[in-house]
Amino acid sequence: MQIKSANFIISNTDVAKCPNELLPEYAFIGRSNVGKSSLINMLTERKSLAKISGRPGKTQLINHFKINGNWFLVDLPGYGYARVSKKSKKTFQKYITDYFAKREQLVCAFVLVDIRHEPQKIDLEFMEWLGGNAIPFCIIFTKADKLKPKALERHVKAYLEQLLSGVWEDAPQYFVTSSSKGVGRDNVLNFIENVNADFFKQNP
Ligand code: GDP
Repeated sequence: MQIKSANFIISNTDVAKCPNELLPEYAFIGRSNVGKSSLINMLTERKSLAKISGRPGKTQLINHFKINGNWFLVDLPGYGYARVSKKSKKTFQKYITDYFAKREQLVCAFVLVDIRHEPQKIDLEFMEWLGGNAIPFCIIFTKADKLKPKALERHVKAYLEQLLSGVWEDAPQYFVTSSSKGVGRDNVLNFIENVNADFFKQNP
């Protein structure tokens, strides 16, 4: 897919105020510093569509970008736990879970994972939450340039094994990317193009 246009539409914290056009939507989410902004800029070939952080605690907003006039790319804030109940039960921030639970045009969530690290509890729990709520998702491994090919393969394998030893029967689809080297761009964009085609078949 060629990116002909990429326009910022709106930022907010309320899913009810997200654009109401019926276009296929893809959400990008992960822990802070995972490389989400860099990935979004790499995919869209824009230098600063998403703001590259460098500092933690960026504004917590749901950011909608319209791509090629026919799909939405959503830059979600890094997730964390919100402690809600008296028993100090942990859940994800409400506006994030609201977004996923209510956003009907969401066709896929991309959960970003830094390929260098061991599987993190919060990422695994977030994927479990998505699976439990029947929200389709893929994993995007980021920063692949930071590992040599053998180590890269080993890390991906270990990650998938960890997933399969938990609640999953099948490993989710995944992509290996490097924003600094442009790795994985075609694979992610081809995937989006195919899912878009299905969406428009079902919603002519
Ligand atoms: P965000 O907080 O998830 O949006 O992460 P950023 O895109 O701001 O990236 C966090 C840091 O990781 C920055 O210093 C980036 O330059 C760096 N980074 C992001 N993607 C890559 C990558 O593919 N390769 C390398 N080597 N560094 C990356």
